[in-house]
Order: sequence, then C-alpha cells, then structure tokens
Amino acid sequence: DSALRAAAELVREVPDFPEPGVLFRDISPMLADGPALAAVVGALGRDFRFDVVAGVEARGFLLGAAVAQAAGTGVIGLRKPGKLPEVADRVDYTLEYGRATLELPAGTLRAGQRVLVVDDVLATGGTLGAACRLVRQAGSDVAAAAVVLELTALEGRDKIAGEEIRALLSV
Ligand code: 5GP
Repeated sequence: DSALRAAAELVREVPDFPEPGVLFRDISPMLADGPALAAVVGALGRDFRFDVVAGVEARGFLLGAAVAQAAGTGVIGLRKPGKLPEVADRVDYTLEYGRATLELPAGTLRAGQRVLVVDDVLATGGTLGAACRLVRQAGSDVAAAAVVLELTALEGRDKIAGEEIRALLSV
C-alpha cells in the first residue's frame, strides 16, 4: 500500500556499519515520522490473533509497544543479558560472529498465551529464532513473528521455519 511505500523511503542505508562491508538499514527516520510509524504499526499486527506482544531489544521495544497499544494488549520486552532483576528463562544463540542471549522477564508471559513477536529487521534470523524459542519454552504459542524489513539474501527465514512470518518490506 502507498503508506508503506512512503515509509520504505525513510529507511536509511548506512555502509560499513557495524563493520566494514555490511550495509546497515537504519529505520530510525521511519520511526520518527508520524504517518510512517502509523503505517508500519498498523500493518505489523493486522489480522493476527494474539494476547500479548513480545518486542526484541531494542528497536522491537518501540514497535512492539505501539502494536500492543493499538491492539489493546500488553507488551513484554525480550532483553539482552544483565538488564533484568529477575529472569524467567533465557535462550543462547549464535550470531554470524559470536554468541548472544535473550532473556524473558519474570512474571510476564503465561503458558497458553498467543504471542506476536516483533522486531525491526530479520537478518540472519538468529535473534527472531531465539525470541520464538523463548516463547515456546514458556509453554506459549507464537502467533507470528513480525518485522518491518527482511534482508532476504541472508535467508533468515530458514532459521524460523515453522513460524508464521510477516515482513512488511524486503530487500
Ligand atoms: P539477526 O542476524 O539475528 O537476524 O539480526 C540480529 C539483530 O540485529 C536483530 O535484532 C536485527 O534487528 C538487527 N539487525 C541486523 N541487521 C540489521 C540492519 O541492517 N538494520 C537494523 N536496523 N537492524 C539489524
């Protein structure tokens, strides 16, 4: 739709970040624009049934909270290690270079809830895959994994095979 196409124009391409040879897609200008934010927030959750949103640190927090508010649900922040006073569960995963961890805050997700997992970008899929595993380990269901932008050449979808994936834009 035309609002999403206009939003796509606000993604900045930043060469050599976070390291030489990588073309980073920065969605900050898109988030800073009212109509663009409304378009992506509306599209991320549309027609999915979910009880709560889980946003991945850090840009997934911004998007996830907005999606949750629009849908009238709560939001859970899936966090990098060392930030939470009480951790319900954690998942370690491998990135292109090195390892990472996501943690679920205590007292948030209940077994049986349907969760919409939200992040900004699907790259290699390690992060979104870990987020979905964290939800499933809690005995909850993944309604879908929703991102603004998918970097298709990295084939991240293969790491989350079996989950419903929504990418609003792809390059
Ligand atoms: P993954 O490789 O696990 O799919 O992506 C790792 C994390 O880095 C994700 O949270 C994703 O949002 C972020 N990420 C990777 N590449 C990019 C990029 O080009 N732009 C943005 N905004 N985030 C990225």
